Amino acid sequence: MTAPGLQESSVYCPYCGESISVLLNPEDVGLDYIEDCQVCCRPIEFHLREQAGGWLEAEVRSDVE
Ligand SMILES: [Zn+2]
Repeated sequence: MTAPGLQESSVYCPYCGESISVLLNPEDVGLDYIEDCQVCCRPIEFHLREQAGGWLEAEVRSDVE
C-alpha cells in the first residue's frame, strides 16, 4: 500500500559520506527523528523542512557530540 505524500530522496550520511535513499513523510515536517544509515548502521538525525511547492528537504547530522 502506498501512502500518499511520501517522497523519495537521497541524503549523504554524516558519518561515512555514502549517499543513501530515504522516504520522507510530510507528517514528519518540523520533527527530529533518527534513522540508521543503510551503509554504516550509525544513527543519523533527520530534520525535515517543507520547501515551496510542498517538496520536503531533509537536513541530516550526526548524533554524536
Ligand atoms: Zn553511513
